[in-house]
Amino acid sequence: MSHLYYPLHSLKEGNWFKLICGASFQDLPAIRSLALAYTLAGADCIDVGADRAVITAAKEGIAAARILEREAKAKGFTYKGSPWLMVSLNDGEDPHFRKAEFDSTQCPSDCPRPCETICPADAIAFWEMDKLGVLDSRCYGCGRCLPVCPSQLIVTRSYVSTPNAIASLLQDLEIDAIEIHTKVEHREDFPRLWKAIAPWCDRLKLLAISCPDHPELIDYLHYLYELISPLPCPLIWQTDGRPMSGDIGKGTTKAAIGLAQKVLDARLPGYVQLAGGTNFHTVSKLRSMGLLGTFGVQNPSPSQNVDLLQKSKNLIPIKGKPSLEKRVRVKGEKIDENFSHSPYPFPLYPPRSPLTKGG
Ligand code: SF4
Ligand code: SF4
Repeated sequence: MSHLYYPLHSLKEGNWFKLICGASFQDLPAIRSLALAYTLAGADCIDVGADRAVITAAKEGIAAARILEREAKAKGFTYKGSPWLMVSLNDGEDPHFRKAEFDSTQCPSDCPRPCETICPADAIAFWEMDKLGVLDSRCYGCGRCLPVCPSQLIVTRSYVSTPNAIASLLQDLEIDAIEIHTKVEHREDFPRLWKAIAPWCDRLKLLAISCPDHPELIDYLHYLYELISPLPCPLIWQTDGRPMSGDIGKGTTKAAIGLAQKVLDARLPGYVQLAGGTNFHTVSKLRSMGLLGTFGVQNPSPSQNVDLLQKSKNLIPIKGKPSLEKRVRVKGEKIDENFSHSPYPFPLYPPRSPLTKGG
């Protein structure tokens, strides 16, 4: 196996291991730490938002991991090299691409602040003196705070990737892969986004298309495949079973697996990867269904993880909450459920059919 192409090898073997930082997540110290930790843990791909500062932070984490390579391997880490860097884009309104906000001057003084408690990213707090608010960089748009506000003060602000911004990112930054978030209702919008990406496709090592379920999903995916063919790189269908919900409970795994099965059964050319709804239960469930290969790697002990993460502080500044570091685990270990909604390793269905081009 070529060292450079180990992510491709993982795809072919059905052991693809991707960290999804969140399309809207912009907490730079956390992204650096996550990129570092997951690179040491042997991630094949790190998926971040289409933001220059975020991409730079992820690259810094990956570079820091390279410096720790020898020591990490000696301690049993499964470091395999630099993972592919993937950037997430959207063709229209999508919950992954939004931020919550509210005017705290309107909040009743006796409100017990359920918004603060429910936020899984610790994005809602008294960030400015006595002013409660959403820290934009941490909010990843999950929407949990919206229904709990008794005064219905919380709203969201959505954004859509623009062709000019995409072209500029692809031109200036070394990005290995792109993930496009779309949905059946965006049939008219996808071609617009694709027109901006297509000229840069030769530079990509991988394209992923993320889509939630819909009665007409399979027909839509066939339509997309026709539109993007011929593709000069591998393709992943990322099945967004229950978007941004993995930390809610065991049941979300069912939605994640169900949608992946539906897409697998359609036998579309390309690989199928589970997304929304995956959590700590997903791998064991997939294994019990015979749908996942064995990882076959030896995990370092938690104490070794902490040791290396401590050393990494000398390489990159980590200003985020210390708890974030503790929340990071390596492949195969339990991910802290308070944070598993976003930056966690995603298991992959082994492709039933080999990747083919042009249908
Ligand atoms: S609950 Fe979700 S949408 Fe609301 S502030 Fe937190 S991360 Fe953002
Ligand atoms: S739940 Fe609503 S009213 Fe209460 S503190 Fe949060 S935003 Fe303000």
